[in-house]
Amino acid sequence: MDCPKCLVLTGESRKLTVTETRRSSDGSSTRRARKCPKFDSHVFWTTEAFETPALSNLGVQRWLDGRVIGRFDRDLLAQDVRLSVAGLMSEPDVEGVVENACRRISAKLPSLLQTISRDDQLFLDNSPAAGADGIILDRQILLEVERAFDDIGHNRVAALLYSMAHRGAPAEDSFGAAAPKDDLPEPLPSYDPASRPSYGDDPEPHTLRGGSDLLHWIDARYPQLKALKDLEDPQADRGPRPWQDWLVMPEDFWPDRRLSYPKEVLKSNRTRVPFRMRNLRHSLERAVVTNPDLQGKVPELAEWVVSHVQGQAVVKSSQLATFAMDVLRKTDDLSYLRFAFIQKNYTHISECGPEIVGLIRYPSRRLRFIPQEPSALHPGNVQMVEQAAKQLSQWLGGYRAITSGQP
Ligand SMILES: [Zn+2]
Repeated sequence: MDCPKCLVLTGESRKLTVTETRRSSDGSSTRRARKCPKFDSHVFWTTEAFETPALSNLGVQRWLDGRVIGRFDRDLLAQDVRLSVAGLMSEPDVEGVVENACRRISAKLPSLLQTISRDDQLFLDNSPAAGADGIILDRQILLEVERAFDDIGHNRVAALLYSMAHRGAPAEDSFGAAAPKDDLPEPLPSYDPASRPSYGDDPEPHTLRGGSDLLHWIDARYPQLKALKDLEDPQADRGPRPWQDWLVMPEDFWPDRRLSYPKEVLKSNRTRVPFRMRNLRHSLERAVVTNPDLQGKVPELAEWVVSHVQGQAVVKSSQLATFAMDVLRKTDDLSYLRFAFIQKNYTHISECGPEIVGLIRYPSRRLRFIPQEPSALHPGNVQMVEQAAKQLSQWLGGYRAITSGQP
């Protein structure tokens, strides 16, 4: 480091020498006195401290499997919050949550940064977060976003929708980092799924697998609601029901590519729009974010919905929403509950408890999708056989001869 005074006055560069070193009381910074070799009056103090990495210089590691899925990206995090709360929050509130979350993460960064070994570093350099200054776990981001929702305070249903979207199924968590699905890097070598780092001070279960988990989680997070009391109320339980045996029988559904689609959808404001299968699929995709297994089944879910409005040229949007709710209730608890909270316009979290209890007490029959298998009886195949017969009869010189069985 050159003497700045000499540099300005004479243009000559003279190396300063350190004459004194002092550490700050918390050890986070060091001050040094530096003296010019030519003029004793040229004395300067400098302060050295470690730089906190910018959030955008951090890689995000999945808690589930130790893979580094990308750089932390504030815009993606905002988009994720926006989609998770499904319009229940104003844009300034969404921004407020993201701002608070980023501030919280920055403040806690020294304790949130994961230690990486030399081997890890080699893997990190080949990951989508190459060149990152450090890595943090996606679950730590989730935790800080949840707390940021608490800072905003007034919209617990939105906070619940966010938590459900991310605690439902850890496999597809994104938490602000872009996660290329097909091309994930190897997990960092030091990452041991059997001894995953804990959530820090998070006392709640990490993963919600169904309605019962969710109810316990709400009870732990908002004890004043006494969410579990409905479940424990013996008065409310009317004992075994005659159809309970029948409930364990799954409902089979054969997806059918020859479904007739409605022509138009009548919306709640009495306007009509053309029916689009892709719009229905899109809503269902948004609903099943909690369940990676179900994400591949969206086309079948959509067909189940359409199969229930067969032959109706005009359907009400509420009909589609009802069947969409039904098909989710038959396939995945958390996806159903998230969708139902939104569709039923629950504005207070105390309304969510009874819906969950109802799902536990009165589950829907599970839906089982049967893959389409070639069968002579299937109408599609009958048509194919007829067509082949016509073709054959043309070659043989008479359609009638073949179909009537006469020589
Ligand atoms: Zn000098």
